[in-house]
Amino acid sequence: MTQTIPTSRATVYGYPRQGAQRELKKAIESYWSGRSDADALLSAARDLRLRNLVELREAGVDEIPSNYFSFYDHVLDTACLLGAVPERHLAAVPDATTPAGELDRYFAMARGTADAPPLEMTKWFDTNYHYLVPELGPDTRFALNLAKPLTEFAEALDQGVTTRPVLVGPVTFLLLAKDPTGTEGFRPLDLLDRIVPLYADLLRQLREAGAEWVQLDEPALVTDQPADVLAKVAETYETLAAGEIRPKILVASYFDRLGEALPVLASSPVEGLALDFTNNAAANLDDLAAAGGIENKRLVAGVVNGRNIWAADLPAALGTLGTLLGLAGSVDVAASCSLLHVPLDVTLETGLDPEIAGWLSFARQKLDEIVALRRGLTEGRAAIGNVLHINESRLASRAASPIVRVPAVRERVAGVTDADLHRASPYGKRRQAQQDRIHLPQLPTTTIGSFPQTQELRKARAALRKGELDQEAYAEAMRAEIRAVIAEQERIGLDVLVHGEPERNDMVQYFGEQLTGFLATQHGWVQSYGTRYVRPPLIVGDVARPEPMTVEWSAYAQSQTERPVKGMLTGPVTMLAWSFVRDDQPEGDTARQVALALRDEVLDLERAGISIIQVDEPALRETLPLRTGERAAYLDWAVASFQLSTSGVRDDTQVHTHMCYAEFGDVLQAIIDMDADVISLEAARSNMAIVAGLAEAGYPNEAGPGVWDIHSPRVPSVEEIAGHLRTAVAAFPAERLWVNPDCGLKTRGYPEVRATLANLVEATGRLRARP
Ligand code: GLN
Ligand code: ZN
Repeated sequence: MTQTIPTSRATVYGYPRQGAQRELKKAIESYWSGRSDADALLSAARDLRLRNLVELREAGVDEIPSNYFSFYDHVLDTACLLGAVPERHLAAVPDATTPAGELDRYFAMARGTADAPPLEMTKWFDTNYHYLVPELGPDTRFALNLAKPLTEFAEALDQGVTTRPVLVGPVTFLLLAKDPTGTEGFRPLDLLDRIVPLYADLLRQLREAGAEWVQLDEPALVTDQPADVLAKVAETYETLAAGEIRPKILVASYFDRLGEALPVLASSPVEGLALDFTNNAAANLDDLAAAGGIENKRLVAGVVNGRNIWAADLPAALGTLGTLLGLAGSVDVAASCSLLHVPLDVTLETGLDPEIAGWLSFARQKLDEIVALRRGLTEGRAAIGNVLHINESRLASRAASPIVRVPAVRERVAGVTDADLHRASPYGKRRQAQQDRIHLPQLPTTTIGSFPQTQELRKARAALRKGELDQEAYAEAMRAEIRAVIAEQERIGLDVLVHGEPERNDMVQYFGEQLTGFLATQHGWVQSYGTRYVRPPLIVGDVARPEPMTVEWSAYAQSQTERPVKGMLTGPVTMLAWSFVRDDQPEGDTARQVALALRDEVLDLERAGISIIQVDEPALRETLPLRTGERAAYLDWAVASFQLSTSGVRDDTQVHTHMCYAEFGDVLQAIIDMDADVISLEAARSNMAIVAGLAEAGYPNEAGPGVWDIHSPRVPSVEEIAGHLRTAVAAFPAERLWVNPDCGLKTRGYPEVRATLANLVEATGRLRARP
């Protein structure tokens, strides 16, 4: 029998790990709670991996990855693979020779134990996935523990599938690590010489187990890297390729273009490169051509966007693939990055209008797109005529839909003038007007918005959803909570109060449910970190606000107290950052639509007598483009949309914003340009470093650096908080300082909230008495 040899393969770098019913989350949490044992967890995980294997194979994926599975996080897996376990976790779980011991040590690194804090967690590039930051110091000793990739390779081989193991590459692994002791003159990348031999050993063993290809992910190379790092990249892959017994090496990049790293990898002896050709990374195409192509290498072309939820434009992708054919030894078709970042399957969304469902593509649908493109590339367009026809009609239906383009919204956006982006008066004049109206003491105390989300609140929401509680009874439950939260804050003695956000399930979802253009999913779960999954809303069309969203709650809260209560909204950048955004117009345009909807809400709050309105932008920093060259354009629209949402108010209405989850050193100018009257910022963990940064940058308005790290249940003492305040006052004018926690309190419990806020008020009192 003759067989046509495919000149192109369909592949992916990873697939959602959790299972259609979030089985993995359930199995892990059941293990944590002691309801099941290690064997049960390991076998549940194995079942899920095998189910994915079957799903990928049946979808027609030619080359299937392995080792993309993780119990918590793939960077943590890499640290364990290399034996980089901090002392405290070794001590916390001394015996890792049993399956339970090994899992417990792993989870100790991820979640901490009573005496051993976990590894730090941070965002995986510019996605909403969080990885655990490896801790590597000059004395770190490594030892290969390759059971995981070998087991996962072997179990697939047992099913007759030779997979391509996927590993975090050595350079990226080190660039993502940190030295917790901050040793002078040391950076984790200095350890490259120690880990490259381990990678070489790993490659050899994978080859001996039967692997033909291995994928080493180097997404850190899509960020700006200095020449010395690029030289190390060249050296690393020179060394790895010199191994005599090894699989072929595919170096994978995603999330942006490779830039200066492209020629480095192109001239390295590795056999394959994976490049992203979507969004900002589309420039890879020109760069590849400029580098003269990679004639003798395999190119894996990420032409299907692995991060958004839109059906691909198949003809456009085929066009890109056709161009690439001339630039590489072979061209394979892939998603731009692991499908980890998108929900599993649109067909689970039974509540969705079928027309809209047709516009969407989740992980399972992306497999079909990739496979179809591969066929189109090797067999010609005619071979996938039917698929192209359906694709064309879906794209056309989306483009013409009245949900997508709403003339009234577009006219309003087009009518925005520069004057709409600025407050009527400069800060100095506003400050006077606000002081005359609001009357606050020196160092005003406040919180960021949410109070603990209690079990009762969650129950009330669930009961409302199930129809066991009617709207009015639900509203009364919320009002009761607001009364309690207001009374609590008055008792503690805070100056500016909040209503506590009891009615919000999530700060983006809550608004998404009330704005047109946003769509919620039933099963669109995406891993945020560990067993935490989120269901981001989809922005499918033009955004408008049919009616006020928060005014009733804020006005009710204000009616319960003489003290000012802050109105509380989520800003346009964060609304976009934590949703799946549309890809048919620039993000800045979508942000403006959201901003106009929020502007109306801000003005309605003002009209209802609310004197202070906070518009949260916690995601402003994390959405910063990976490449510095792209940042100015992003910050332009980000700042403009914030201003559009807030600047319609009178001088004597005080606008606050809030940012967290990041350090802000590189967005200080944007913070100044946003021109909020007051910004509260996360600062406690970095010991108020941001305050000096604000002062140096000449930040002219008011600021509240967080004095309480709300990520832990620890109660900081009066002395500790006073110490933070003294640091702040030493660096920044006291008359423009506020006192507040790092972030909202919704994940905290009442005991620590009461104790800490009382300490915060007392510490502030000390500073006021003796500045
Ligand atoms: N106002 C929100 C809260 O207090 C802000 C949350 C955030 O910054 N992530 O919960
Ligand atoms: Zn926050």
